[in-house]
Amino acid sequence: MLTKAELVDVRYGVQGFVVHRPWAMKMIRQIYKMFEEELEKTGHEPVLFPLVIPEEYLEREKEHVEGFKPEVFWVTEAGGEKLERRLALRPTSETAFYSMYSLWIQSWRDLPLKLYQSVAVYRYEKATRPFIRGREFLWIEAHCAFATREEALKQIKEDMENTRKVVWDRLAIPFLFLRRPPWDKFAGAEDTYAADTILPDGRVLQISSTHDLGQRFARAFNITFVDSKGQRHYVWQTCYGPGIWRIVAALIAIHGDDKGLVLPFDVAPVQVVIVPIYYGEEREAVVRKCERVKELLAGAGYRVLVDAREDRTPGWKFNDWELRGVPLRVEVGKREVEGGFVTVFRRDLRRRMTVKDEELLGTVAKLREDILETLKRRAREYFESRLAKATSKEEVVEAVKSGKIVFMPFCGREECAESMKAEIEGLRVRGTELDHAEGDYGRCAWCGEKARFMVYVARAY
Ligand SMILES: [Zn+2]
Repeated sequence: MLTKAELVDVRYGVQGFVVHRPWAMKMIRQIYKMFEEELEKTGHEPVLFPLVIPEEYLEREKEHVEGFKPEVFWVTEAGGEKLERRLALRPTSETAFYSMYSLWIQSWRDLPLKLYQSVAVYRYEKATRPFIRGREFLWIEAHCAFATREEALKQIKEDMENTRKVVWDRLAIPFLFLRRPPWDKFAGAEDTYAADTILPDGRVLQISSTHDLGQRFARAFNITFVDSKGQRHYVWQTCYGPGIWRIVAALIAIHGDDKGLVLPFDVAPVQVVIVPIYYGEEREAVVRKCERVKELLAGAGYRVLVDAREDRTPGWKFNDWELRGVPLRVEVGKREVEGGFVTVFRRDLRRRMTVKDEELLGTVAKLREDILETLKRRAREYFESRLAKATSKEEVVEAVKSGKIVFMPFCGREECAESMKAEIEGLRVRGTELDHAEGDYGRCAWCGEKARFMVYVARAY
């Protein structure tokens, strides 16, 4: 689908770096716009930080540098000469942002500070695949600083809400929002919270994450403020990263079918494609009607295209636009011209209907909602069918092998999680629900020891 629908080209010649083609880029721009709107509605402002990060910045927070250094691309020379200090291509930008936050934040009046950037980041990954794991990939990173821990914790909920507003409300991608186990948190964070969806091959995919940074980076970068009583304090910080790339992967894999992509209206580069069907002299009247329909729909704000290619048959065009996931197709032929109607085909159900000319605008508005609801209903059913419960190791193994996310009692020990990983390739403890409290949950489904948590486990990308 990646190649056939002309989303990316992997022939660039550098592993993990792909060329994004127009159809993918237009989808990506829509997704960026959706997140940027939510971020700005919740008080974030856009910035652009340099691509390069001096090594000494990266090294200031010990766990952070340990976690990221093995994946860093370094710039070591320029202009034919070796650089005095090497520069990292941003693998993530905490250290870039916070080097400036220590200058910008002085007083309680400077808080909260909520900034984001929409950029590519660079990580030297071993195994790569487009939209899932790249050495260059697209995301947003938001970096927030607060006067109190309570505000920072509230930010985590806001990030979850913003994820839901885009990923579920508009793109119909279902997910669980989980708190990662301590051994799987972001390097340098106190806690990591993440949204996981599951792809049809049974592997979960993290599509966004929020990190509670506590005061670790504030101490490492000396980010302090003076409160209204003249006392100096370290700030509390969070960072949030919706994975634009991975959301594209989820769109393709979850909504797509054997015919190609199936796109929700909001993300589709073309929302309505109009295909003229004519023989000989019918052409003029048919093309004229196509143009009228286009003007009508474009005037209402839809992204519309008339496929006027002369060297392709209507059938070929139908397949081509179905492959690319265009939600609605309007077919106009002699019958439609004479009868005062159009034929509308919806991609999600692959169903045709006849719509009177004067009802077209209202019908498209209704179908826009209806398509989203259909995708949501299908995605919800799909996601629910992928959730299982287990209380024994046999049940865990069976459920995971049949491609499910398993909810189970867990001892909380890293060794136990390690033994899962050793037994089933990719099997990971994904975490607990957000407000889950430690308690007595019987026996760990995997090792049989006392269970202190209820967790989700699954094979992961
Ligand atoms: Zn255990």
